[in-house]
Amino acid sequence: MSGSYCTVCKKRESFFYRKYSGQQLCKKCFCESIENKVRATITKYHMLKFDEKLAVAVSGGKDSLSLLHILAKLQKYRPRTSLIAITVDEGISGYRDEALRFAEENCKELEVPLHIVSFKTLFGVTLDELIARVRENKQTELTSCAYCGVLRRRAMNIAAREVGASRIATAHTLDDEAQTALMNILRGDITRLVKEKPATTKVHPMLVRKIKPFCEIPENESALYAYIKKIPFQDTPCPYASEALRNDARTILNTIEEKHAGTKFAIFHSIEKLRPAIEQTVEKEKFKTCKNCKEPTTQNYCKTCEMLTNILHTPKI
Ligand code: SF4
Ligand code: ZN
Repeated sequence: MSGSYCTVCKKRESFFYRKYSGQQLCKKCFCESIENKVRATITKYHMLKFDEKLAVAVSGGKDSLSLLHILAKLQKYRPRTSLIAITVDEGISGYRDEALRFAEENCKELEVPLHIVSFKTLFGVTLDELIARVRENKQTELTSCAYCGVLRRRAMNIAAREVGASRIATAHTLDDEAQTALMNILRGDITRLVKEKPATTKVHPMLVRKIKPFCEIPENESALYAYIKKIPFQDTPCPYASEALRNDARTILNTIEEKHAGTKFAIFHSIEKLRPAIEQTVEKEKFKTCKNCKEPTTQNYCKTCEMLTNILHTPKI
């Protein structure tokens, strides 16, 4: 807002009006506020111990690259924490190749090693091939993102284990968290509501814990951070991005946020307060080993094996 001064430093001209807090911020104070918030979130949710190896899930988009830049910066305060970027190549032609270039470029600049895993290597099939089969089989009950999500989670977990990381940081923003909460309520899925925590606990030795240091950063602020810091990122959307319910949740939340600033924070904090009470009503998951791939699962066969078998009609992966 031209003409007004930054509420924090009171020296530089304001660049951004943070409606939910009423602050006018200059570029410098804005970026510092994001970095401080991430640091505070890590502390608040006990996301990291002082000497851990952290894998950062990097897609090549603005959120994951902003997160990578901030975590690389915060590493100065945590010299015994080591950082490695992990990128999953789902095999989406014309999209993921470009994203990989952005991931590589940023990792090189930050001197963070990058580990890439692909669906093709892990599961013998690319997402393009899988979705082609889904369409051929007319198995349209799930969205492409639902199929992709199952394989991505598995790929990420395997990649983190391969590099010896004890935690995976993902760039889920406040918007993602509020949308997911609303979607889980709309679906009546209380178990998922409990599971989607800012920091997961250790539930199985083969499941790497996940942390979400951006869970209290609004998506538009993550984008603004990338823009101010001139972080190169991919901004073309995935050709399969199709989650209808998430799109509706996004539209609803953005509309309410516009009229009532702070709504997304209110939803996020409400769930955080409710979670301990809900947790007591949900049965604890009992893990077994998948009869096919030997990965942990709560069923006889894991979701990944079940899904691949179902689509590819093969008895084994
Ligand atoms: Fe996978 Fe959906 Fe993300 Fe595309 S938008 S990479 S299909 S989860
Ligand atoms: Zn399995």
